[in-house]
Amino acid sequence: MDKISLQRIEKLHPLVREEVKNIIKECDEALTGRAKVRITQGLRSFEEQEKLYAIGRITTGKKVTNAKAGQSIHNYGFAVDICMIIDGKVANWDTAKDWDNDQVADWYECVKIFAKHGWDWGGNWKTFKDLPHFERKSIPTKKKTIKTSWRNLSKIARDKDGYVIL
Ligand SMILES: [Zn+2]
Repeated sequence: MDKISLQRIEKLHPLVREEVKNIIKECDEALTGRAKVRITQGLRSFEEQEKLYAIGRITTGKKVTNAKAGQSIHNYGFAVDICMIIDGKVANWDTAKDWDNDQVADWYECVKIFAKHGWDWGGNWKTFKDLPHFERKSIPTKKKTIKTSWRNLSKIARDKDGYVIL
């Protein structure tokens, strides 16, 4: 796994860091060579989210998100966006490409691995498809399993580093 991805994983919510490391390792093994997974975004601060929300509304450009600060799972460190790095050089977002020639698109191989670990793919969403995006559907805690919707997460107290306390 590359350094940049690893650094981004280290900023995810502590409860999913090991899991995401394992997912990416598993993906890289399944893709057997040319394509490797790069995490392009993990944790996104409330401030960064606010700036994204402003694009196409307050600042110029096309709208990039419908989520205000606190309304994205990224804001809590339970989501990642990915791309593929091809031959260690070029970033690629082609979800149909079969770089390892095993008759399954590499992106979809990753979707299946993420799903096995309880992560939902933005490509499955009906209204706004977000192909690079994956997020943890729920988190089991000692007391109960918490659905990781932003509405749920936004009600939970956060520690000094800003992570929700579960
Ligand atoms: Zn995302």
